[in-house]
Amino acid sequence: MNLTLAEFVLLVIPGSGFLVLLFTVVSRTLHARSETRSLAGRVICRLCLHGFEDHGHGKIASCPHCGAANERGRSRRLG
Ligand SMILES: [Zn+2]
Repeated sequence: MNLTLAEFVLLVIPGSGFLVLLFTVVSRTLHARSETRSLAGRVICRLCLHGFEDHGHGKIASCPHCGAANERGRSRRLG
């Protein structure tokens, strides 16, 4: 196989583009995973929106900022 420079460039450009795309997808996946893990004990107060860590066993976590009772495991907010 005897590649000319043009043919070589035509192979390398899509190849490097694919590698960049692959790297982006992989790093995003890893980032999303670590974010999900760190959000496990994270509670956002429904009253004052103060974010705090709570690693208790109960279903209710009280906000250290305003004292409101927050239901745990509802990190995803709608709207
Ligand atoms: Zn609060």
